[in-house]
Amino acid sequence: MRLQVENLDYAYGKKEAISGISLFVKKGEFVGLIGPNGSGKSTVLKNVYRGLTPDSGSILLDGENLLTMPYKKSALKMAVVGQENELPFDFLVEEIVAMGRSPHKKLFDIDNAADKAMVYHALKHLGMEHMAKRNYQNLSGGEKQRVIIARAIAQESDFFILDEPTNHLDISYQMQIFDFIKRLNVTVLSAIHDLNMAALYCDRIYVLKHGMIVLQGTPEEVLTEQNIYDVYGVRTAVVKHSVTGKLSITYLPAELS
Ligand code: ADP
Ligand code: MG
Repeated sequence: MRLQVENLDYAYGKKEAISGISLFVKKGEFVGLIGPNGSGKSTVLKNVYRGLTPDSGSILLDGENLLTMPYKKSALKMAVVGQENELPFDFLVEEIVAMGRSPHKKLFDIDNAADKAMVYHALKHLGMEHMAKRNYQNLSGGEKQRVIIARAIAQESDFFILDEPTNHLDISYQMQIFDFIKRLNVTVLSAIHDLNMAALYCDRIYVLKHGMIVLQGTPEEVLTEQNIYDVYGVRTAVVKHSVTGKLSITYLPAELS
């Protein structure tokens, strides 16, 4: 799966939210989108997963124009995990995961044995198989997010679009979610709030500010003390961590900056 976005513009009404966005994700890459609140991360992702229709620009998936692709075909190609995944009705965990199978099926097809096996496999992968009969709405935030990722796995897509998927989660769940996704060896485009998470998991990073990409590169190229100050206005100490080999970012209080 290769994603190629060229010159993407989108405005909510008259208010320009993103402009001139060009980015790519190569097969197997884990690419992060970072930037302050309101910089346009979610808007970029929504245009890519067809929640919004671009005002101009092109989006190619494996060289094919996404904007004219049948919806079912694009739904098969990408799995989307959002920030808060509240669902309006009561569903069992296994029913939600089974929804991941729907792009594979015709209207009114019932779930067959292979679908059921896939649902179980996906839940097991996230250590959630014992929760299959639980009510989704009664789960904790971390459990809900694991169910949504199980749904993405059941979909058997090899391209994941994530919008700050661990935003409201405890640190252990944050790590667990990113570790699970990393182990799937899928292609990923993810908005990430936390710069240390971006440093740990991303192969490359795009930085958005005021709806435009202002920096791009590897974590080492992008996450410098000066760049972080320019984009976020915060002083940091950035070092390569001796255990992870990745960058580690410490935010400095005013008296040290
Ligand atoms: P981020 O995900 O980086 O926080 P968003 O893509 O959500 O940023 O928002 C980018 C800009 O678009 C912001 O100025 C935000 O206020 C605006 N925006 C987002 N969603 C809407 C909407 N539904 N209607 C109008 N403006 C919106
Ligand atoms: Mg957002």
